Amino acid sequence: MIVSKFGGTSVGTFEAMQRSAKIVAADRNRQLIVISATSGTTNDLVALSSEKDSTSREEILGRIEERHLSIIEKCKEQDQLKKEFFEEFSNLREHLDFVGRDKRWKDTLYSFGELMSTRIFVQVLNEHGVDADWLDARQVMKTDSTFGNADPIITSIKKKAEDHIKSGKTYLTQGFIGSDVFGNTTTLGRGGSDFSASLFAEAVGADTLEIWTDVAGVYTTDPRIVPEAHPIQEISFDEAAELSVFGGKVLHPATLKPAIRGGVNVRVASSSDPDAPGTYIVKETEEKPTLRAISLRKDQTLLTVNSLEMLHQHGFLAHLFKTLAEHKISVDLVSTSEVSVALTLDTAVNAANKVELTDEVLEELGRFAEVIVEKDLALIALIGNDLQKTSGIGGPLFTALEKFNVRLICHGASPNNLCFLVDHEEAEGIVQMVHKKFIEK
Ligand code: ADP
Ligand code: ASP
Ligand code: MG
Repeated sequence: MIVSKFGGTSVGTFEAMQRSAKIVAADRNRQLIVISATSGTTNDLVALSSEKDSTSREEILGRIEERHLSIIEKCKEQDQLKKEFFEEFSNLREHLDFVGRDKRWKDTLYSFGELMSTRIFVQVLNEHGVDADWLDARQVMKTDSTFGNADPIITSIKKKAEDHIKSGKTYLTQGFIGSDVFGNTTTLGRGGSDFSASLFAEAVGADTLEIWTDVAGVYTTDPRIVPEAHPIQEISFDEAAELSVFGGKVLHPATLKPAIRGGVNVRVASSSDPDAPGTYIVKETEEKPTLRAISLRKDQTLLTVNSLEMLHQHGFLAHLFKTLAEHKISVDLVSTSEVSVALTLDTAVNAANKVELTDEVLEELGRFAEVIVEKDLALIALIGNDLQKTSGIGGPLFTALEKFNVRLICHGASPNNLCFLVDHEEAEGIVQMVHKKFIEK
């Protein structure tokens, strides 16, 4: 059994839906299809959630309606499809009238993107001879109640998958959305459809998980930044996990864990060029180059915490991390000296694990330390093998970086990554330089 996930651009237009449906039809082992919202829709819904002006709201709603109708109007059975679409669309409108202050409201709002796209795609699949059942992901994807970034409950998902997904049949379902024990709609964080697909693959015991996207696999770096970047034929789970954690948007950072647990093979490929080999993510790769890829994560914040009391004191680090943990702030890099600690936080708007550095946290930290916040930084991660060894890439890399303002370096903690923090404006140039010098042959 194959679980196939199609991202936003792969279902963003009628033509894209046609291409994706053809892929599904070409191999009947593709029995569980997971799709995202049409591209741009989740961004629109996020914008809608904070838009108070009614004219601007109507504008956004108009854009969402128009995007979906332009697909529907090219489908065969339009009447039934329009009816189903407008059912979801008016639910969305109605939901906006209940602007709640609690976080639950937003997750339900965001879920309409995937609900609408699956309504249409099930019909497109049908037109390609694939008789798929529309499955409400919320019946299977059970999560905790952390709205906006819910944690899946693996045992419940397995149990529910047994109840709702029967072998021999084909299903179409939504990525990104789930529900908690009370039946409230939850979401898995931005870009979470990859993660959903992997959780589904684990739950049904799939052999393969396919991630169909707009690029022909996992590249040596984001091809939007470096046009010379090329697809990697084979990459290990460990390397790919680091690549996604450090900003390789092609996979949501949590995607690989369920696949590893379930022994599921993963392939990343392009829905507009399905015959290209794509990337296979495997346990052990044949080749283990020191440097395989480069990731870039923008909108990083550096928090420097100084405590005069830290000198020869114990418990300061524990106190600091306890405070951050209480506010659910996840820390990425850490560097410490006798009297200060520097931490990086992912503050990007679309980050899967976005951190909000509220006044409340700063105030609490301010009670026992002096805190300096620096914004507009970017984190660059080199991904590869045995990167912790100083005899490898470290020397030539730091020489190449001589001219740049490198704020923090993390070297030695992982064999699969070496990362450093730089100024936002210099980041893309550095990625291009490092790619040219160390990856392009
Ligand atoms: P989808 O909607 O299919 O989930 P995304 O936009 O989330 O697609 O992810 C695909 C995008 O990820 C690519 O268009 C590319 O710009 C970006 N990307 C970043 N790093 C990489 C990388 N190392 N390899 C491939 N794509 C990458
Ligand atoms: N539609 C969701 C988002 O844009 C999930 C996804 O695309 O993976 O974040
Ligand atoms: Mg994505």
